[in-house]
Amino acid sequence: MTEKKRKLLNDIKESQLVLIGLGTEFHIEEEDFVQWDLYRKWQEADRNREYLWMEPFLKRIWLRQEKHLKTEKAYASLAKLLEGKNYFIVTLCTDGMIYKSGLAEDRIVAPCGNMEKLQCRAGCTEKLYPWKEEMEQELTEAILEGHLEKCSPFTCPCCGETLEWNTIHVQRYNEAAYLPMWEKYTKWLQGMLNRRVCIVEAGVDFSYPSVIRWPFEKMAYFNKKADFHRIHGTWYQLAEELKEKGNSISCNSKEFFVNLFV
Ligand SMILES: [Zn+2]
Repeated sequence: MTEKKRKLLNDIKESQLVLIGLGTEFHIEEEDFVQWDLYRKWQEADRNREYLWMEPFLKRIWLRQEKHLKTEKAYASLAKLLEGKNYFIVTLCTDGMIYKSGLAEDRIVAPCGNMEKLQCRAGCTEKLYPWKEEMEQELTEAILEGHLEKCSPFTCPCCGETLEWNTIHVQRYNEAAYLPMWEKYTKWLQGMLNRRVCIVEAGVDFSYPSVIRWPFEKMAYFNKKADFHRIHGTWYQLAEELKEKGNSISCNSKEFFVNLFV
């Protein structure tokens, strides 16, 4: 492991560009959420399971209010690793934790969306809506009082349908939000030609393989000056043609980053 870690650190140091792909291993852990005080109160108050719509919003409050040491530490290591580098990050995570890490927002693209902005469930408009302080207050108070009926579902001002987080989990996912960053990303990729590139794939499984896994492999294969690192607890294996230049690290990628500088 130490040898592989050293190789990664060295390749990053030697590289002109660093491309990072983050997958589901970087998702925030759910276990702590269901143990959370406000979550339990919500469950107690919702005996008939009539207020399930509240859960994703509750999650956002939990994400923002509580400490998430392991995830925060992993992102902090990543930020330290990329300090002073010309990098770009593609993430499949939707929890928005990456934006709290000090990594440059204009170097991150999240094609699966984020729990940052709201969209109309019916997709009547491309417009996104902010998550407002009042919404958070209304929801929190209703739960604390045990009177969930005091908080009505948040609705789209245009058509009255309910609002949901702008993520790939919405049936009519509004992709408009991430497209400008995606454009920036594809432009950045064009600069890879003939430069020494370090490609790191961390925690990416086979969900949405056309976003990170397949294109990263392809770029690593065709770019003569590219180094390729794949870190994953289960899916760390490399294809035959990448075995020579690839560094396969069999370790949960979040753990790996937590311990990167220790
Ligand atoms: Zn609408």
